[in-house]
Amino acid sequence: MKNATWIQRSETVFIGTYNRFPAAMVRGSGCCLWDADGKKYLDFLAGIAVCSLGHCHPQVTEAICRQAGALVHVSNLFHTPPQIELAELLVSNSFADRVFMCNSGAEANEAAIKLARIHSSPERYEIIALAGSFHGRTLATVAATGQPKFHQGFEPLPQGFVHAEFGSPQAIEQLISPHTCAILCEPLQGESGVRPLDTEYLQAIRSICDRHGLLLIFDEVQTGLGRTGSLFAYEQLGVTPDIMTLAKALGNGLPIGAMLTTDRIAASLTVGSHASTFGGNPVAAAAGVEVLKILLSDGFLDAVQEKSRYFVAQLETVAAQYPHLASGVRGAGLLLGLVLTDRGIEEGAAIVQQMFEEGVLINFAGNRVLRFVPPLIVTKEEIDELISKLCTVFDRLT
Ligand SMILES: *Cc1c(COP(=O)(O)O)cnc(C)c1O
Repeated sequence: MKNATWIQRSETVFIGTYNRFPAAMVRGSGCCLWDADGKKYLDFLAGIAVCSLGHCHPQVTEAICRQAGALVHVSNLFHTPPQIELAELLVSNSFADRVFMCNSGAEANEAAIKLARIHSSPERYEIIALAGSFHGRTLATVAATGQPKFHQGFEPLPQGFVHAEFGSPQAIEQLISPHTCAILCEPLQGESGVRPLDTEYLQAIRSICDRHGLLLIFDEVQTGLGRTGSLFAYEQLGVTPDIMTLAKALGNGLPIGAMLTTDRIAASLTVGSHASTFGGNPVAAAAGVEVLKILLSDGFLDAVQEKSRYFVAQLETVAAQYPHLASGVRGAGLLLGLVLTDRGIEEGAAIVQQMFEEGVLINFAGNRVLRFVPPLIVTKEEIDELISKLCTVFDRLT
């Protein structure tokens, strides 16, 4: 069956929440995808920073198949080896001592919000998040998200979330009340346009938390697991959170999320206070174990940093070559954005569409930035190919 037939069937049955590319994807390998018409794509989206080891990484696929043949699900009424191994890998490689497993980024943030509240209850419950942030689509995480477009029509939203202007420690401090329990932020805002938070700003946030007895929650759903060149983004910032959430790349495509914290804070969640039917499912956790082992293997993260330097240099050349369209490069590791000029922004959607036609997948984040989140195994040749296609598309716009 061809793309056209799949698309027509798809458009008949789904609620229209997605604006999808006109392709039905049927196969993936490494940084490549193939659609139902047999067209090949170079994938610089990686399922939105999910398939960090590339599509169908053999070691992950093998682990999934092995676990699917042994045990798929028993619920969290029992211990299961893959879940335990994954949790051990997460705590032995982070600040955290304890893990709660769930199925997605929003659920990991829900768990973090619930933990922050129960730890601080009854008088403190309010969370300060940042303007421009993205934390998920459940009602509480959408309330935490600092972008009004995600709120519209869903009011009344859960209470207890306020948003501080981006970049200003004073703005955060002004929002602190006797009810504040935590500050929630992404170390680098992904969805709103690959916007890094300065190290000094993050350090100021940490010190505000310490002075006021607030918990610092880092949403590393997108930045975590090697994406920025270290296992977790916080490691490069000299700032350690009290709670951290993970999801996207954790299962290299299988749905799994995690909320991590210290012994002291974790003690606030006791038997029956939180749960997830599928959370830490053995098959997804078995995939997660392989993901962690590969990310932690010798030289893997160094290679991510080296490819990042190469990619940044190439993107800077593009920005210099097309100053009317692009004004600069930002981001970290392999979470990079080419910032467009006002003229470039007008063409943003068209650039993404033309890249798709050229067989390269990217997206337009925060209505101002072309976002590149390739699998971390991307090669320099693949980066060169993307750059050359980008120039082809930009040439047409000049
Ligand atoms: C993607 C994302 C989420 C939401 O994750 P889901 O798995 O879609 O629920 C939350 N926070 C950040 C920073 C994200 O990038």
